[in-house]
Amino acid sequence: MKTFWNKSGSNGSGAVKYKANGHLIAFNQVSKIYETSAGSFTALRDVDLRIDKGEFVSIVGKSGSGKTTLINMLTGIDRPSDGEIYVTGAAVHELDEGEIAVWRGKNVGVVFQFFQLLPTLSVLENVRLPMDFGGVFDRQERDDRAMHLLELVGIEDQADALPAKLSGGQQQRAAIARALANDPPIIATDEPTGNLDSHSSTKIIRLFEDLVSRGKTILMVTHDDELAGRAMRTIRLADGKVVL
Ligand code: ADP
Ligand code: MG
Repeated sequence: MKTFWNKSGSNGSGAVKYKANGHLIAFNQVSKIYETSAGSFTALRDVDLRIDKGEFVSIVGKSGSGKTTLINMLTGIDRPSDGEIYVTGAAVHELDEGEIAVWRGKNVGVVFQFFQLLPTLSVLENVRLPMDFGGVFDRQERDDRAMHLLELVGIEDQADALPAKLSGGQQQRAAIARALANDPPIIATDEPTGNLDSHSSTKIIRLFEDLVSRGKTILMVTHDDELAGRAMRTIRLADGKVVL
């Protein structure tokens, strides 16, 4: 029996510090300032966060409040201007670009609003792709695992189809299966239902609930208060600050 869900995060980068006081995710006084030709703009201001394994957390706030910036800090897609970010034992704010890429590949599955599947690859090949680069699973395991993940998200009958043949909801399921490819402990997602009708959105949320029941930790940015309410906890941002 293969293990599809690891018990805790592994970091891919050797010696890293762990100063998260036992939390899976810890932000300590994180700020992000964007420098633009019009001057500097503070998108996140002294953000403190503690998130534990198995939590399903929604992140809400008006457009421009800093939600995407916060997710980009968590995944290491962008770097903080100040503060510390500890995720799955890694000091994300201290890793260099190469280390972040390796770490993210094993520790955080990212799901975007517009799916971002590769159009010329089949659905199965899209899901297998992160494993092809991950170096964790051998060839036969990768195919088996990709198929298992498609079963898990309920679109195994679309394995050989090109993404364009799928509905929006099915494409997002494929993107979630791809995010799970290397068995990361965390799924980070920015407006995953922003391009879906309410019926498909509800199904995606149910899938997230199922993944949380299997031990995953999920952070979901949404501007839909009803969907946000399905999470166990909601973090609200206003002008780059966490508010109650
Ligand atoms: P949200 O996702 O909540 O809509 P964002 O995190 O995308 O908010 O943006 C927060 C603020 O930071 C916005 O005012 C936005 O215009 C600004 N911002 C985001 N990214 C950049 C960037 N790369 N350069 C300059 N300003 C940015
Ligand atoms: Mg955004």
